[in-house]
Amino acid sequence: VDRDTGIAEYAPNWDWHDVPLLALLSEHIAYPLYLDNPLRASAVAELWFGAARGREDAVVVNLGTGVGAGLVLAGGLYRGVSNSAGEWGHTTLVLDGRLCHCGNHGCVETYVGAPGIMLNLRELSPRSTLLHPEDQTATIDALARGVATGEPVAVKVVRDTARYLGAGISDLVNLYNPEVVVLSSWVARKLGAPLLDEVREAVRRHALRRPFAATEIVLSPIPTDPVCLGAATFALEGALQSVGQRTARRTITTARSRTAPPV
Ligand SMILES: [Zn+2]
Repeated sequence: VDRDTGIAEYAPNWDWHDVPLLALLSEHIAYPLYLDNPLRASAVAELWFGAARGREDAVVVNLGTGVGAGLVLAGGLYRGVSNSAGEWGHTTLVLDGRLCHCGNHGCVETYVGAPGIMLNLRELSPRSTLLHPEDQTATIDALARGVATGEPVAVKVVRDTARYLGAGISDLVNLYNPEVVVLSSWVARKLGAPLLDEVREAVRRHALRRPFAATEIVLSPIPTDPVCLGAATFALEGALQSVGQRTARRTITTARSRTAPPV
């Protein structure tokens, strides 16, 4: 998204191109609106309320239908030059691998996003009763229940998925040397501790020893939807900022001792 113009430039899961979302919403909602990217929102949620609180360098890995990474570097949100940083889900994991809806082949997302996990299951066991062909949530729920009861196909699918995920996350560990990697969003929440254990083991195999030793890998402790919480945080930040600006203006005219608005 372009935050300044309020345009959703590209949303691959909905096939949106240059939708003027802020203008469309403003016609119906009479309050200040803030448009931002879900990867940024979930990173802010972890920074304010979750596993990245008080951390300087953190990577928030979103595992849902889509996949991406929110980056907190040197204590702040890292956006990149055009607010597009963290599109890790569309980095290449397998050369000439599965076709991705972004148009490339072998992207991380095609192996560890919910549709990718369904494909991992289908390739392993095409007629598995765990597979609900048109229903991502039901399939991930079935896998989670299967792992809990030791169902071999479910255990193998989660392990295979964790191997892909571990290879991808080890790149993030080597690149950013974060204090913490947070596994966030609904697929991570549903597959939970069994996925986390396998991912830690896979990252250990792929990452360099020193950055791996400095990195914690945890599940998000946020019990609600982290993207919604982060989006609400952007609105709160906006409100605080506007209060700060009003206070600063008043302060400058009345008393010269105050130098900075509250942050
Ligand atoms: Zn892609």
